[in-house]
Amino acid sequence: MLRIEDALEIILERTPILDEEEVALREATGRVLRQDCISDLDLPPFDRARMDGYAVRAVDTESAGPERPARLRAIGEAAAGNAFSGRVGAGEAVRIMTGAPVPPGADAVEKIEVIRVLDSGWIEIEEPVKTGQFITPRGIEARAGDVMVRSGERVTPAVVAVLASFGHAKVKVSRKPRVALLSTGTELVEVEQKPGPSQIRNSNTYSLAGYAQAAGAEVLSAGIVRDDFDATRDAIRDALANADLVVLSGGVSMGDYDLVKPALGDLGAEVLVEKVAMHPGKPTVFAKLGDRVIFGLPGNPVSVAVSFHLFAWPALLKMQGASEIHLPRMRAYASRSVKGAPPRRSHQPARLAIRDGRAEAEPLKWSGSSDLVAFMRADCLIVVPEDRQSLNEGELVEVISLSG
Ligand code: AMP
Ligand code: MG
Repeated sequence: MLRIEDALEIILERTPILDEEEVALREATGRVLRQDCISDLDLPPFDRARMDGYAVRAVDTESAGPERPARLRAIGEAAAGNAFSGRVGAGEAVRIMTGAPVPPGADAVEKIEVIRVLDSGWIEIEEPVKTGQFITPRGIEARAGDVMVRSGERVTPAVVAVLASFGHAKVKVSRKPRVALLSTGTELVEVEQKPGPSQIRNSNTYSLAGYAQAAGAEVLSAGIVRDDFDATRDAIRDALANADLVVLSGGVSMGDYDLVKPALGDLGAEVLVEKVAMHPGKPTVFAKLGDRVIFGLPGNPVSVAVSFHLFAWPALLKMQGASEIHLPRMRAYASRSVKGAPPRRSHQPARLAIRDGRAEAEPLKWSGSSDLVAFMRADCLIVVPEDRQSLNEGELVEVISLSG
């Protein structure tokens, strides 16, 4: 039985990095960048008004007060996309709109709400205006030539906005991992069917498809195979045909009909991990056939999810060349006690919440690793160290987020 860290080391060492491809920016969200992205201009590209009001020279308002307002002559207008062509001289002001370039000569913006606009084309300001007020200076957000986003970062909606701002119409990203999913089990029927007396519906390929897509993969196929040696071997062979990674569920324990490992052996795959000191998810299998990566995850719906997040998630991100491949880990206070499973490290499904200003992880009430109904509400796993019989209520514990 391998420690989680040792299993992970083997898995990551044997997981190849996929080729890169160039995609249009609108295809880039969710992908991992394989190039640094440089800014091609200062941002903002000019001193920019942050308020609707008047662009002024602060010095002209220095001695303004309610009794002696500064009286300035309005000489024109600057709007977003339409700069004022002249210069603001002594005693002058320019009507300015949010997003417009501050005209030369002006060094502050006063907002319209505190300005008295006179009919005669003059304005009055009753308070001194501070130099730089309501101006976002040129280049404060980024400088031309700066590296804005590095190779290995995943493109989020916020990142894609930055890439758009700096003219990256096309970017180099990793090819999407192609994943084939296969549920083993003679008891399984598809969602459209009503299960017979000893049958259950296949749910694992549905959860796995979602997890794989969230990790940036493309799901090629998702099927069921019964617990028959030849059928299992042939289904794995078919799944491997076009996939970079195959995720099997079920058939990896010690039962007479657990045929995944023998089938992998028959196909000539190298089984590198067979058992991991974790709960749930002990019979996690990792194998390689050529460049192809194969995970055989235990069939119980919670086990499959825990095992996927601990091992297949980082493998998929490694494949894409991501610099951060693991799910976020954090600390939170356990709101109830949690049982451990020594000598295995245990993972208790839980929900994070902020209560009284502190992060709390609420362990879900579950009846065991088949309890997909309870697991539906989990957004994290509480980690119970391998040497602990239990964690106490109120104890600061480690949690693993279930979303990247
Ligand atoms: P196994 O790992 O094959 O021994 O399966 C463990 C348990 O998980 C059994 O109760 C199976 O019926 C259940 N199970 C296996 N595969 C699936 C699946 N695709 N969807 C839902 N439950 C499953
Ligand atoms: Mg089975």
